[in-house]
Amino acid sequence: MKKTILIIGSGFAGLRSAKTLSRRLKRFGFSDRYRILLVDKHAYHTYTPTLYEAATTSEEIADNMGLKDIVTFPVIESLKGSGVEFFRERIEKIDLKEKQVYTDAKMIIHYDFLVLALGAEVNYYDIAGLRENSLSLKEFSDALRIRYEIISAITDEKIHDYKIVIGGAGPTGIELALEMKLWLSNLPCLRRSGCAVTVTLIQSSERVLPGFSKRVGKRVLKIIQKKNIHLLTSHAITSVDKEKVYLDDGESVDYDVLIWTGGVKPNSLMSNLPEVNSYMQIYDNTAYGVGDGIRFLDESKKPAPKMARAAIEQGMVAALNIFEAIKVNEGYSLKEKFKAYKPWRYPYIIPVGGKRAYAVFGPIMISGVFGWLVKGLVELEYIISILPVYKAIRVWLKGFWIFMRNNKIKV
Ligand SMILES: Cc1cc2nc3c(=O)[nH]c(=O)nc-3n(C[C@H](O)[C@H](O)[C@H](O)COP(=O)(O)OP(=O)(O)OC[C@H]3O[C@@H](n4cnc5c(N)ncnc54)[C@H](O)[C@@H]3O)c2cc1C
Repeated sequence: MKKTILIIGSGFAGLRSAKTLSRRLKRFGFSDRYRILLVDKHAYHTYTPTLYEAATTSEEIADNMGLKDIVTFPVIESLKGSGVEFFRERIEKIDLKEKQVYTDAKMIIHYDFLVLALGAEVNYYDIAGLRENSLSLKEFSDALRIRYEIISAITDEKIHDYKIVIGGAGPTGIELALEMKLWLSNLPCLRRSGCAVTVTLIQSSERVLPGFSKRVGKRVLKIIQKKNIHLLTSHAITSVDKEKVYLDDGESVDYDVLIWTGGVKPNSLMSNLPEVNSYMQIYDNTAYGVGDGIRFLDESKKPAPKMARAAIEQGMVAALNIFEAIKVNEGYSLKEKFKAYKPWRYPYIIPVGGKRAYAVFGPIMISGVFGWLVKGLVELEYIISILPVYKAIRVWLKGFWIFMRNNKIKV
């Protein structure tokens, strides 16, 4: 019987693990002895960097299916020809000692090697009323919900002074607030006389984009001010009810739609697991943890960044290390040469509305339309890495066309 390599989560980290392992197994002729099983609660892989654009695309430009085609990609399409099997299941429990996981359909899956790539979930920090009254932007369905809520409210002729509040001025809050401001200026509501939309961004720390370069933070701050986004820094949200957000200085802010982008935490299935070591191992050399769901500290005790590129690298490291263990099991080598994961200063891109972005590569910053072009190329490169080239180019062009038309009059 074939041994099972089980990978849970077909996000950035899990998909990369599956693809890397499948190539290795084929190259060394081990495919007849090992099967790779990829499991996810969704049948698709989500490209999160375009979620904010999906949330702010007019319905006449793209319907839900049109958006789904360009933001999410069917996992089986990405696995074509790889030999990796895919199951759509929600995992409920993991037993590392017994080497088995349980699905919500009461199925038990046994494994010989495991990669946990379950990602993160929204962190509400136990703020009273926040979970119940806010929208989040983590999954594709969240983007559709935001767009639906905003369009329904804004087309309501009874409302004249429309208030959107975004909690959290990290990259997601910033890109969403700036894109939304542009998008809303094109919506019918603002063509009615006496109608106004206020976008308020609330951040608990002193500055926007905490943890990112101060230089970028300052530039972004200027854009926020120029676009008339109401920014409240050094203000923590203490509680929320159906109409108001309450702040730590006793003030409150009214809202019609509240979106929370203030933080994530490891997926609850992974949060109680041990810290991963530098080989991405959680439990001897059979169970590995990768991506946003892990607890990992580098040599200087800094956590790994929660970024797609970091997740992809970790997914690859786990796959290579499982392969090292397989080589020993198969008598192909005497001792594993495990590869260590070392986080570095990953490049990042902060979109600032329409066709503008800051692309930061170490000390180099590319801004404006050029930054936005870099963003497009990074997207294309990633989609090509997971889909057949012709399909990737088609999807990318479709996305480019939709988002271009959506902000046609924004530049
Ligand atoms: C709005 C937004 C924008 C972002 N923009 C950027 C960006 O521009 N650049 C960047 O580098 N990073 C960005 N990120 C961060 C990036 O998305 C994450 O770092 C990355 O997704 C982490 O990859 P992962 O594989 O750990 O998790 P994910 O990609 O989240 O994958 C986890 C997978 O696990 C599955 N899963 C979860 N629970 C279960 C379960 N119980 N059973 C079965 N399957 C389950 C999920 O369906 C999902 O497919 C963004 C994130 C968000 C939310």
